[in-house]
Amino acid sequence: MNHDLANNIRSKVDIVDIIGERIPLTAQGKNFFGVCPFHNDTNPSMSVSREKQIYTCFSCHATGNVFTFLMNYEHMEFKEVLKYLGNRVGVDVGNISLSKKTTKYDHLYKAYQLSVKYFQNNLNSNIGKDAKKYLQNRKIEEETIKEFEIGLSLDKKDDLTKLLTSKDYDLVTLNRIGLSSDNHDIYNDRIMFPLYDISGKVVGFSGRIYKENGQNKYVNTKETEIFKKRELLYHYHIAKEECRKEKSVIIMEGFMDVIRASTVGIKNTIALMGTALTKEQINLIKRLSNNIILCLDGDDPGQHATLSIGNTLLEQGMETKVIVLPNPEDPDSYILKNGKERFLGLINSAINFSDYKMQKMRENVDFRSDEEKAKYINEVVAETAKLEDPIRIEVVLKRLAKEFDISYNTLELRLNSLKKDNQKQKKVIVKTEKKPRKDKYQKAFEQILFFMLNNDWIITQVEQEHLIFPEEIMRTTCNEIIYYYKTYGNINVADFYTYVQEKENILLFLNNILAENYNETTDKEELFLYFKVVREYSMKQEIKRLTNLMKKEIDPLEQAKIVERIRKLRLGDS
Ligand code: ATP
Ligand code: MN
Repeated sequence: MNHDLANNIRSKVDIVDIIGERIPLTAQGKNFFGVCPFHNDTNPSMSVSREKQIYTCFSCHATGNVFTFLMNYEHMEFKEVLKYLGNRVGVDVGNISLSKKTTKYDHLYKAYQLSVKYFQNNLNSNIGKDAKKYLQNRKIEEETIKEFEIGLSLDKKDDLTKLLTSKDYDLVTLNRIGLSSDNHDIYNDRIMFPLYDISGKVVGFSGRIYKENGQNKYVNTKETEIFKKRELLYHYHIAKEECRKEKSVIIMEGFMDVIRASTVGIKNTIALMGTALTKEQINLIKRLSNNIILCLDGDDPGQHATLSIGNTLLEQGMETKVIVLPNPEDPDSYILKNGKERFLGLINSAINFSDYKMQKMRENVDFRSDEEKAKYINEVVAETAKLEDPIRIEVVLKRLAKEFDISYNTLELRLNSLKKDNQKQKKVIVKTEKKPRKDKYQKAFEQILFFMLNNDWIITQVEQEHLIFPEEIMRTTCNEIIYYYKTYGNINVADFYTYVQEKENILLFLNNILAENYNETTDKEELFLYFKVVREYSMKQEIKRLTNLMKKEIDPLEQAKIVERIRKLRLGDS
């Protein structure tokens, strides 16, 4: 990454200006405060520091520098942010392309690239005639086949396994990463759709039958170190750009739906691939757009999924819009039958999830029964109580009052009491979600790391004293701070953020530290007290380890030796 360029640009912009242009900030003491845009809130829980050039939300713990703010708020990529800010402050960023990271998985990605080529060749050769015909019948044109790198696996052949073993891949690896099984090809005579990770690398396949043969319609790659279903959304790497342009994201069930939409130029789409929505996927979707449109299949399972996914997203503070396709169409078949314009019409008339839910509630109510009617009204009021917008709430209640001839007051009373319950529940959730309190050791470790981020001399001290942190993530962060300092000659939190922005684990840990109110500076005396706490902790751990060892030891002589070591350790602690 072009770190110097990034630092140069960052030093020329003021985070207070950039954030202040997007959300109202008020000055209070040294800092500025505003309503955090990264979670559902009305209180000014986000503080922006002009001095440190970072922002921190005390409620959702979102934190970072001006780059991360824009990346998350504008849904931009780092490169785009650099260009945008560079432009603003008159720094030429040229044609920056961030150097590709090499990873320990490169060898595996390469195997998938080779497989894609191999499957493509099959489809384009004579042997792929029938498969091609199938795709033609489904109105998948050559151009689309190329774009989505569709291919074909061969019937009961081991050609792929042979090809890859001839290229320096061993069978153990191939079995492990889901390209072979029992040392043979996994996919036999299926149309092969590559599955991409969020950065666009092929990490798996979905193979579809194209002749009726009683087999499962799709076979997907098993979970592997590079194919993590919880973290995948089909088409995400393309949708990233498109969603920003369109200011919305459309969620579909299958990759065939996404491919179809793409053929008519609708590309701000992702597919869930049939799995339930995971936490990781929700976070990914949040990064695409705040305007989410659910467009699942029109059949019963699809309608079911619409309800459950809509609810999940609502609980996360994201209200989605919903498109209801006629049963049993899916986006693919709907677009094929009705064309692009009518599909766009559906998108534009998508309804709010809450309204959809209330509509669904009506479906099986027998309005001749007073009991069912009352139950229905109660359910609708309960749904309404989850809404934020007071105007929408009033609209729904007025409609209910009119339709069922109930006084508005009665409905409002019920609503208010439900709202109170919700708030109570929310509070309980917040409490249980809180992480266990940090003990004095944890606090000391984090405080030292925070000192290091703000004071060059403390970095030097930590190095000189050979301080060793007990947890892996702390050691990693400490090493990165030292490395950064040695490379750039100084350190500050805002630039360090840029440096670690692709190191997810460090970033999370950093956020966790910044959410606490640690001191920024100290003197040598106090610092050494903190060091002492770290050493005390290491000693306690060592004693624990030795005590366990002793319990397992059967030789009394060896036991005595261990006891002596423990005693010595204890003595050292004065
Ligand atoms: P097609 O139009 O080719 O039948 P589809 O997109 O309509 O495909 P669905 O049956 O709606 O397919 O399934 C949606 C998604 O669920 C698919 O894209 C696939 O990822 C996944 N899926 C479906 N069936 C299976 C299966 N048997 N095994 C694994 N995944 C499956
Ligand atoms: Mn389909």
